[in-house]
Amino acid sequence: MASYLTRFAPSPTGPLHLGHAYSAVTAFNRAQAQGGTFLLRIEDIDRSRCRPDWEAQIYDDLHWLGLSWPEPVMRQSDRLPAYAEALDRLAALGLTYPCRCTRSDIRAAVSAPQEGATGPDGLIYPGTCRHRSMSEAGPQDAIRLNMAKATALVGPVSFHEIGPLHTGLHVLQPLQMKDTVGDVVLARRDMGTSYHLSVTVDDATQGITEVVRGVDLFDATAIHVLLQRLLDLPTTTYWHHDLIRDDQGKRLAKRDDARAIALYRKDGASPADIRAMVGL
Ligand code: GLU
Repeated sequence: MASYLTRFAPSPTGPLHLGHAYSAVTAFNRAQAQGGTFLLRIEDIDRSRCRPDWEAQIYDDLHWLGLSWPEPVMRQSDRLPAYAEALDRLAALGLTYPCRCTRSDIRAAVSAPQEGATGPDGLIYPGTCRHRSMSEAGPQDAIRLNMAKATALVGPVSFHEIGPLHTGLHVLQPLQMKDTVGDVVLARRDMGTSYHLSVTVDDATQGITEVVRGVDLFDATAIHVLLQRLLDLPTTTYWHHDLIRDDQGKRLAKRDDARAIALYRKDGASPADIRAMVGL
């Protein structure tokens, strides 16, 4: 069996907060317990929101917390050709189409009362552009996955959750994928990729055996496993942890700078204090 490999994959769009500390330390501890390796990956595909000083702060905060990882660190902004290649493979299978719908186009199209279900990425795409061909794709288009065709090709999607929250084997049938996930975006306009595509390609390239991350990404897992199947990549196991909440029980958002690790550090907190605050 491959030796245990996991990762922490933050986006440098703001300071790391207590929720990130919890996620990173959980992944690091699991790697240590299994005699495996913990990797750091910088998810910076959204160039408009990522900043080098946030990235520097990530390294600094994580080192301060006592975590270490092998260098060099993978950065998604260096990986665009790998994502383009994966997208080309999916296009060659006839599973993609260009889409120029805006968010408000989608809202308007699903305004009929029986529609408007939401999935991991918000409203389930109503399929307005599904008839379009890749030969028409231009810079103003996103690229979507035709979910019905994709699941027809690979059948049910299944993965093992070994974390404490949804433990067990999860199997999603093609119809369920179509109705609860829909035609997800594989490449955002002007970006050439998406969170789902990059994460799937990178986890495989890095040989990740177990994905440790917050349960807010649990519903996205079926998309990643489907992409693994379509691209002939190995399926990892998953460990989704609960989310750190504030005193009002609200989950901490990236923007919740009040919980930034850097602020606690400035106030004199120790790494042990941070671990205690997140219950580790
Ligand atoms: N980059 C994602 C985030 O900032 C995490 C991706 C993952 O762990 O799959 O939340």
